[in-house]
Amino acid sequence: MSSAKNDAFSNRPFNWMNSADDCLRRTAAAPQAQQADLTILLVDGVYMSRVALIRCESYDYGSVRKAVEKGLELLGGAGAFVKPGEKILLKPNILSADPPEKCVTTHPSVFKAVGEIFRETGALLTYGDSPGFHSPKAAAKKSGMADAAEELGISLANFYDGEEVSFHEGIQNKKFVIAKGVLESDGLISIPKLKTHGLARMTGSVKNQFGCVPGPLKGEMHVKLPNVFDFARMLVDLNRLLKPRLYIMDGIMAMEGNGPRGGTPKKMEVLLLSADPIALDATVCRLVNLEPEFVPTIKVGAEMGLGTFDKDNIELVGDPFESFQTPDFDVKREPVKPFRAGSAVHFARNLVVPKPFIDRNKCIRCGVCVNVCPVNPKAVNWHDGIKTKPPAYRYKTCIRCYCCQEMCPESAIHLKVPLIRKIIRI
Ligand code: SF4
Ligand code: SF4
Repeated sequence: MSSAKNDAFSNRPFNWMNSADDCLRRTAAAPQAQQADLTILLVDGVYMSRVALIRCESYDYGSVRKAVEKGLELLGGAGAFVKPGEKILLKPNILSADPPEKCVTTHPSVFKAVGEIFRETGALLTYGDSPGFHSPKAAAKKSGMADAAEELGISLANFYDGEEVSFHEGIQNKKFVIAKGVLESDGLISIPKLKTHGLARMTGSVKNQFGCVPGPLKGEMHVKLPNVFDFARMLVDLNRLLKPRLYIMDGIMAMEGNGPRGGTPKKMEVLLLSADPIALDATVCRLVNLEPEFVPTIKVGAEMGLGTFDKDNIELVGDPFESFQTPDFDVKREPVKPFRAGSAVHFARNLVVPKPFIDRNKCIRCGVCVNVCPVNPKAVNWHDGIKTKPPAYRYKTCIRCYCCQEMCPESAIHLKVPLIRKIIRI
């Protein structure tokens, strides 16, 4: 793909709002929307982002299909988001090769229902994700996504190879390497999973697009952007570049605790739909009694114009918000501390930022943590090459990206708040 074509990709317009409800608007004049194209509602002169919450009690396919349909109707219907003949990429969360019952990945029933409905609009569908560790094909197979895709008759897009795309409007990143399968599409429908995250409290709509960056390049970005807020700005830029048309989050069985891979399934029975990823993620936070501003992508996403988390600018539709509230959801309810990278502060940083540590009793010595650690030399590695004991950390060089905790298949890696931080309570 030529660089001119890639420039065209980053400048592609929202030309798909062909049949939306009359009140659907996108505007550069809305509050905080100068940088982004937002799908919002003009209600009594106030710009609102609409979030639909739909109850769905199980992954029984018929129930899921009805719930997705109901949610889409409240947003103007599937036809409001795609035109017949357009190439649309479905982007579920396929973080790793795990079965659906572990709740690491978007459930294949949700993926299939979204696919079936959008296929009926005449869109030409593909799907894909770039997992943190396994190959896209292996992860799609194990997660059940490949079987669902086969039933739909849609193929896995190329998430192995990437091409550089310039993004002149980028605030944190002026260029990205994007999977070819994404570049070959006209638009994205993002299908994230409702889960906790060690680095960012919650993962959701905004983070889901990180899988559009192929393979090991994701690790390199952690090294380049060790500050969690810079990393969040990069994710927001990525969303501003890719401009997913709609986000449909699977929160039927969510994940709490040591997410995004090692947490515990939690029944929440909710699907959330919105064209505003910040409003959607903020609504999830409110459901689990977490301040939206504690999640870096929400805070900087609003600042960068990707959406709004202001309650007054979010219109909730569908089933009652209160009926989904889960105040006992296991999530860390405190802000993420912004630490600047650099040698002068590295010592202090190491003293106060939560450290990953390995539970020896849970560790199966698989080496996934060693493989995914992006720093060179590895900050978690086999001691003297001995693979019969759990790997060991070198905290001096660890950048606290928590990729190891994110990808450990046994939930053997936890984050420990250093004693000094507990004492001085920062
Ligand atoms: S800590 Fe987890 S990822 Fe690392 S070797 Fe043990 S089980 Fe594998
Ligand atoms: S040891 Fe873990 S947290 Fe530290 S740099 Fe490596 S992957 Fe990131």
